[in-house]
Amino acid sequence: MARLTMANVPSAAAEVIKRHQMEAPVKVGAIARDLGVAVLISDLPLAVSGMLSRNQDDRTRWTIRVNRHEHRHRQRFTIAHEIAHYVLHRSEIKDELVDDTFYRSGLPERIEYEANALAAEILMPWPLIRQLMDGGTATAAGLAEALEVSQAAMSIRLGLPT
Ligand SMILES: [Zn+2]
Repeated sequence: MARLTMANVPSAAAEVIKRHQMEAPVKVGAIARDLGVAVLISDLPLAVSGMLSRNQDDRTRWTIRVNRHEHRHRQRFTIAHEIAHYVLHRSEIKDELVDDTFYRSGLPERIEYEANALAAEILMPWPLIRQLMDGGTATAAGLAEALEVSQAAMSIRLGLPT
């Protein structure tokens, strides 16, 4: 499978994402806001991590909901995952997409793979990782703390065993 990169993201959205990747941690809420997508921390069922829905009153507008009961780092990954669905897949979503805690939504596996890959690129951009390492942050734990992601997500990004 071809590895998905920011090159697959429409250029206007890529510009917005890159603008917020200049310093750690990447501000996912600001990325969503600048893309015109609302983010709500919501009371979702325990089995659900996040949702991406068309607004009822204006179907060109979208809202991301993340589960208020999950860890903040998990919420940040979920917001990035839903941003990825918004920029890459919204034409394939009718009214709403509901991601369970394994980021399964009923859409094809390829779509979830792409959303996870782009979420990792949004939250853990290589230039920022290199900058942190140059500044002396040498461990997955340290990088995870600086980027406000889980250590597991950071280890996967670095190709380390989790
Ligand atoms: Zn998903």
